Amino acid sequence: MGRFVEAADRHQASFLPACLEDYVDADNAVRIIDAFVDELDLAELGFARVQPASTGRPGYAPGTMLKLYVYGYLHQLTSSRKLEREAGRNIELMWLTGKLVPDFKTIADFRHDNARAIQIACQRFVAICGLVGGGMVAIDGSRLRAVNTHEKNYTKGKLARRKAHVEESIARYLAELEEADSAAIGPATPRIAHLTERLASLRGRLSELEEIGRQLQAAPDEQISLTDPDARAMATGSDHRGVVGYNVQAAVDTKHHIVVANEVTNRGHDRSHLLEMAKAAQAEIGASEMIALADRGYYEGEQIRSCAEAGIIPMVPKPNTSPAQARGFWGKAEFVHEPETDTYRCPAGQQLQKRFARVEGGKLIGVYFNQKACGACASRPLCTAGKEKRIRRWEHEAVLDAMERKLNAMPEAMAVRRCTVEHVFGTIKGWMGATHFRTRGLRNVATETSLTILAYNIKRAIAVAGVASTIKAIAG
Ligand code: SF4
Repeated sequence: MGRFVEAADRHQASFLPACLEDYVDADNAVRIIDAFVDELDLAELGFARVQPASTGRPGYAPGTMLKLYVYGYLHQLTSSRKLEREAGRNIELMWLTGKLVPDFKTIADFRHDNARAIQIACQRFVAICGLVGGGMVAIDGSRLRAVNTHEKNYTKGKLARRKAHVEESIARYLAELEEADSAAIGPATPRIAHLTERLASLRGRLSELEEIGRQLQAAPDEQISLTDPDARAMATGSDHRGVVGYNVQAAVDTKHHIVVANEVTNRGHDRSHLLEMAKAAQAEIGASEMIALADRGYYEGEQIRSCAEAGIIPMVPKPNTSPAQARGFWGKAEFVHEPETDTYRCPAGQQLQKRFARVEGGKLIGVYFNQKACGACASRPLCTAGKEKRIRRWEHEAVLDAMERKLNAMPEAMAVRRCTVEHVFGTIKGWMGATHFRTRGLRNVATETSLTILAYNIKRAIAVAGVASTIKAIAG
């Protein structure tokens, strides 16, 4: 006869292990959290109330609170209420905090009051886990949703559309009211009362929108988010509406996939982030020459040049944005720059000389062409719609050419980038759930990101080195 595993009888007297230590295995991740936080100099990191006050009710030690948060983010328990509940019933947390159960307000205040210190503390794990140093990082950014719906975000275009919609409704209700008025005999009918009420509400909405319009004019980037004022509408590849949120940037070590640097901004594009992310990663890795892999979104001449000057080897593919190519003509890639003569060799073998230079968008751009050769060229219909083909070249474009040659010599670079960094964001977004962030404001959101990334790094450290070795590395 079959049988199931037998459960213990609730009423059976038993001898449970006498101390909390017996409930936590040697390879439990909670031991890493304990060792890591104990290793930190919390006063130096800027945590408040590191020394207990000599008067008043004793507070909770910042180390205990930090352990509680790190544990929470490691197990997707990110709300202060959940953490309070778990602290009272979760045996690992009892072990970690010494059975302390702070109330949710104290927990939430700790994260709010120590935002910057928590961010620095989380970053320290990278240096002390001893798992970085591959000399190569992959940089990427992802847009994460803020606590702010699309409806509570306004840009000029959105405001105009919403105003037009309300005005259209007002016009429709007015027409209906006029019709009802002319049909009504005696006191106002219920329909008139209903229409009047709706009109008043729509007029109220219109004045709200007009007020938002005034605020929008004063906003530096002509955008307003009502619930989380720091959140911004950003385009994403996966959702045609984009997201109202933040741009989370990460630099990930390609050797062990540890996130070595992160940054949260409310700039919706990546092109101005390459240098700051690469420099932050370089400082963490300590490599004098470091390769930084990034996708086309990071291709920006000055950023790439500054990276090269800082001893960073950027690897960023060129975006396919040639307007001539889009119109069916030969793109710039078909024209080869010859540095010895500073000329371009065109597909017909002709030489295009630099004729003049001008400043465009703050960059000095040389313009190359050969009017005579183009005038007599049989391939001109494939090359240009004008009288001659003109090629524009930035004065520092040699840096971009050198980068392209390196990329061609390393065809696996973009596959390495993808494998290294994309699953980081996939995992983090999965952990954060549908709404991503819980808190509001750039500072608080950056703290959430730091805690999430620390949790990710702890999991990576366990996967790569195991609990015992990680604790050993932390202890130095
Ligand atoms: S049109 Fe001018 S630039 Fe183009 S292939 Fe002919 S000679 Fe070369």
